[in-house]
Amino acid sequence: MAQPTTSVPLLDINRDNRPHREEFIEAITAVLDSGRFLFGPDVVELENEIAQYSQAENAVGCASGSDALLLALMALNIGPGDEVIVPSFTFFASVSCIVRLGATPVFVDICPDTFNVDPECIANAITPQTKAIIPVHLFGQCAQIDRICQIAAENDIPVIEDAAQAIGAAYHSRPAGSWGLVGCFSFYPTKNLGGMGDGGMMTSNDAAIADRLRLLAGHGMRPRYYHQAVGINSRLDTFQAAVLRIKFRHLNDAVKSRAKIAERYMRMLKDAGLVGPDQIVLPTVDENAFHVWNQFSIRVIGGRRDALKAHLSENGVGSEIYYPVPMHQQECFRDIKHDRNALVETERASLEILNLPIFPSMTSSEQEIVVDTIRNYYAAGAKAGEKAAA
Ligand SMILES: *Cc1c(COP(=O)(O)O)cnc(C)c1O
Repeated sequence: MAQPTTSVPLLDINRDNRPHREEFIEAITAVLDSGRFLFGPDVVELENEIAQYSQAENAVGCASGSDALLLALMALNIGPGDEVIVPSFTFFASVSCIVRLGATPVFVDICPDTFNVDPECIANAITPQTKAIIPVHLFGQCAQIDRICQIAAENDIPVIEDAAQAIGAAYHSRPAGSWGLVGCFSFYPTKNLGGMGDGGMMTSNDAAIADRLRLLAGHGMRPRYYHQAVGINSRLDTFQAAVLRIKFRHLNDAVKSRAKIAERYMRMLKDAGLVGPDQIVLPTVDENAFHVWNQFSIRVIGGRRDALKAHLSENGVGSEIYYPVPMHQQECFRDIKHDRNALVETERASLEILNLPIFPSMTSSEQEIVVDTIRNYYAAGAKAGEKAAA
């Protein structure tokens, strides 16, 4: 096997950050000198900026996207005996928040084209015990949130948007995080607005809920040392907020770069003759969605996904599987009842999906390497096939 001469990482956070290094150092130094490591002015400013950006009246910082989801369910008093509808094809944190509170996740399937939760599956899963619906805006594209909110409203059930991967995304021009009762964002370093550590935020157009979220994120304490509720300690610290405010100023440019890379992938993969029902299926953009491309997710048909991933890896090209094991198949959720026949698209997606490198500073020559490496895989396969047929 020839040694890889070039390599393309799945993402390169250092390269994305490098142009803003001086700005980061200045902001971090200012926080250091202020001594206000918690509750500093940058936290309030970032909350205001995210609220405005997401067209939400209120935003409350917290320690992570996972905590944002947990706090949203806590604010709704969700607990044992309650059901929460959630897609199985998501990251663990969309589901762990439900189980942690003693409630029951009800897993629903996805639409095969967008990988996002299927609204009709949500409608069919509603019972008198349903206390919340958590649609996930996966990979940077909104689920059909208008239809989901309509179904929820007809049944008087609150919607908690898991917008961890989708800051800046929109549906019918209305931003992710402004549709549901609460929008949950993550500032994990690989997210579109990524910090230098953990961080999260909750948005809401309901002032009473926002107030409740803030209370619960601060030990349920109000006033000082008087505890109204059994809250948790979940804060966004000032260093993170200061760094995130700088990244926020560059967020729209970063999204534009991601969109350009995604368009180029589509064209290059098509031009290379790799797109088709027995090779690669490109990601679908919902015509009503503004996609922010946190991931570029292809399907590899014919049971060849893992072999293609290995081939990319051998040739120095990063790729990842989001997600290889759906939540209904996780060891820790084995006791949760589910109807496997109703999760067919979820299981198929977990076997076919492959996420290719995408990050704002990725170059077109890096993309060429990715596509050439994929092309080589299929060309070698075709030769092996010819040999086998001979
Ligand atoms: C990243 C992510 C989370 C959790 O966010 P953290 O900040 O890492 O806790 C939740 N849901 C989804 C879909 C995510 O991608």
